[in-house]
Amino acid sequence: MSVSAPNSGANPAAASALATIAARRSSIASTPTPVQQLATLGKQLAVEQLLVKRDDLTGLAFGGNKTRKLEFLLAEAAAAGAKMLITAGAIQSNHCRQTAAAAASQGLDCQLVLTGQPSDKEGGNYLLDNLLGAEIIFISDRKDRDRVLQEAFSTAQQQGRQPFLLPYGGSSPTGALAYAHALGELLTQLQHHPDCIVLASSSGGTQAGLVLGARIFGYRGRIVGISIDESSQQLQSKVASLANKASQLLGQDWKFAPQEIEVDDSYCQAGYGVLTTLEQDAMQVFARQEGLLVDPVYTGRAAGGLLDLSRRKEIAGQLLFWHTGGQVALFAERYNVDTITSK
Ligand SMILES: *Cc1c(COP(=O)(O)O)cnc(C)c1O
Repeated sequence: MSVSAPNSGANPAAASALATIAARRSSIASTPTPVQQLATLGKQLAVEQLLVKRDDLTGLAFGGNKTRKLEFLLAEAAAAGAKMLITAGAIQSNHCRQTAAAAASQGLDCQLVLTGQPSDKEGGNYLLDNLLGAEIIFISDRKDRDRVLQEAFSTAQQQGRQPFLLPYGGSSPTGALAYAHALGELLTQLQHHPDCIVLASSSGGTQAGLVLGARIFGYRGRIVGISIDESSQQLQSKVASLANKASQLLGQDWKFAPQEIEVDDSYCQAGYGVLTTLEQDAMQVFARQEGLLVDPVYTGRAAGGLLDLSRRKEIAGQLLFWHTGGQVALFAERYNVDTITSK
């Protein structure tokens, strides 16, 4: 393959449409984020190379992958004349915390619909949501979420607050474009394309963006999403559909099939946010071999998947772990020195 100019892409028309949209994004993330080598762990796993893309360092209020999506979503909100952001998630939602920070940084109000019941001692993301000044509506049952979110939106609209509704996890086609752009960023940082990118995948926008970016920028390696809470079939459909819709925003009409999307759901059987020895081990291995912190819900599970898949030689060669952040959840009330470090 010939060496191409950074970002010129395998599909120049889509790359240039993406660059135009990216140029309008709100600048709230510190990018490019670093790519680092995990030499000790890589050697231990006997892989050619183990790299990490540090999207836990996007910067805004402890960062994470939602900050990149919010850069694109804020531009959409601004174009709609929004004065307020509304979104929903779990009590320890990283997306909600980053949305609250993004809103604060733009002088917007923020309302969050959170599922669960916090105790007086709840910390982590919930503490930061409050510190960042978000208005919080609690629901006890996740099945009420869509309804309560819609009601919150209508009420805010009636009050003239000009709300803008952000999807769960920031995973709309526009949010996904941020990760197509991020894949372009990664490729300009590397001399060789990795054989395999591994990431935590949940609402699907991050993986959809990477898959789309692969087509735009000519990345032919694997993109393996470790499912956090859904069957492979569900997540593959979600990712493919988001990638297809996102391609339309670039003037393309690409059709990714669910089977083309690589998802592994072997590690989510315990359920969302439930800590098992998989996450405990991964958190300890990454911390103790590399001084790198992964979180109990997302990146700990994905890192556990990466360790297992590479030990079983299901992934090999040059590996890149896409760190999506989430460490704030380490300071949630449910996790402590016993649950995190006991074996
Ligand atoms: C939201 C989140 C993910 C999953 O990203 P999606 O785009 O929702 O699939 C992974 N890691 C962390 C830390 C997250 O907060």
